[in-house]
Amino acid sequence: MNSARPYQTRSARRAGAGAAPDWHNRRVSANDPIPGSNPAADAVAPALSPPGDADRPVEPAARRRPSWDEYFVGLVPMVAGRATCDRGRSGALIVRDHRIICSGYVGSPPGLAHCDDAGHLWRNVIDDDGSVRTHCVRTVHAEQNALAQAAKYGLPLAGTTCYCTMEPCATCAMLLISAGVERVVALRRYHAAAQSRELLAAAGVRLDVWHDEDQVYADQSRPA
Ligand SMILES: [Zn+2]
Ligand SMILES: [Zn+2]
Repeated sequence: MNSARPYQTRSARRAGAGAAPDWHNRRVSANDPIPGSNPAADAVAPALSPPGDADRPVEPAARRRPSWDEYFVGLVPMVAGRATCDRGRSGALIVRDHRIICSGYVGSPPGLAHCDDAGHLWRNVIDDDGSVRTHCVRTVHAEQNALAQAAKYGLPLAGTTCYCTMEPCATCAMLLISAGVERVVALRRYHAAAQSRELLAAAGVRLDVWHDEDQVYADQSRPA
């Protein structure tokens, strides 16, 4: 029955047709509540602009479902909230066919001390040009932990998309390529990701960066 219809097309909305029965004889306005919706809960939903396709089915303007990218990008900070090293509290989700296959965040291997409890474990790395970079080596990166989780539970990752807090480091980029990940979506840029971008491009892995700005984290003044 019509009252269960979850959405109407833009053209139907313009014509005032196709709405639920109690909306008959008037146009749908942006302030109309969606039948069965919770206005208080909807009020906290982010304001998002709908795509431009005029004939694409949409819900009444008071609420729009997030796209799949928006959905998974929105989950990344929640995963990252479990991270245990403030050198970069990153999270990662690996997704196929709109389903989450595995997830990971920056942290020590299970059973080992975390940076938040034991402090960072610094190591200097000397590059070929003699420059010295300092890394915290206590933790496993978010992308690596997601890959390890897939390995632990026998989950193939060919053809997947990885959603992550920032562009992956070069090691993570190579591991994602090797695991069969075909697309990377990063919330922000990693300030030292030049090599990662080259690797992903050379391997044909699409890289999309949500916000074109560097991710900021503690002790960023140490080159990494
Ligand atoms: Zn650390
Ligand atoms: Zn990494």
